[in-house]
Amino acid sequence: MTDVKKNLHRVLDSLPQGVQLVAISKFHPNEQILAAYEEGQRVFGESHEQELKLKHETLPSDIQWHFIGHLQTNKVKYIVPYITMIEAVDSLKLLREINKQSVKVGRVTDVLLELHLAEEATKYGLTLDDCRQLLDEGEWREMAGVRICGLMMMASNVDDESQIRKEMLTAADFFDEVKAHYFADKEYFQHRSWGMSDDYPIAVECRSTMVRIGTTIFGERQY
Ligand SMILES: *Cc1c(COP(=O)(O)O)cnc(C)c1O
Repeated sequence: MTDVKKNLHRVLDSLPQGVQLVAISKFHPNEQILAAYEEGQRVFGESHEQELKLKHETLPSDIQWHFIGHLQTNKVKYIVPYITMIEAVDSLKLLREINKQSVKVGRVTDVLLELHLAEEATKYGLTLDDCRQLLDEGEWREMAGVRICGLMMMASNVDDESQIRKEMLTAADFFDEVKAHYFADKEYFQHRSWGMSDDYPIAVECRSTMVRIGTTIFGERQY
């Protein structure tokens, strides 16, 4: 069996200060999550609403859950009451729904805007221009139920390290632009979520503040 505790400590030891680990537990059973929890890990990421619901209901209540997958608007109401962060907001429509449902339950939901910089056509996310447009348009400023806390992205799934680096540095530069234009006085706009099992060493060199690591900690997923 995968030695979750050993793997977790290896990852944590390799992260510089100021980089937060989101342990991506999708498709892994509660006992593996608990193994990491016992070592002090509290932040976990999931990408399916139903699976997250089950885990949320059966695991310790001080776990901070991040939703990292593509979220359908009709699922928003189910996760908003307990989610710590929704990482992959890729449309104004989704942002509006998160706001609406959050206001309804008296919460403010922290979100990240997901950028699409990878070459794969299959990846979700906003292009830089989409993102600028969403922020310029300004409706988000009136949303009492959401707080935009930073940016998230997935780099291309390629062996070419320079390609991955280029995309992550583009995201980091864009973060600076967005911070300066829209969030200069907002301390909470501070998260740069990039880096997964295969590319997180590059991500931390490219100013990531939040890495999302599954396989390296929990082993291969059994779908
Ligand atoms: C599954 C997933 C991860 C983790 O991937 P690993 O390669 O297992 O580390 C990170 N981010 C997102 C958005 C994911 O869907």
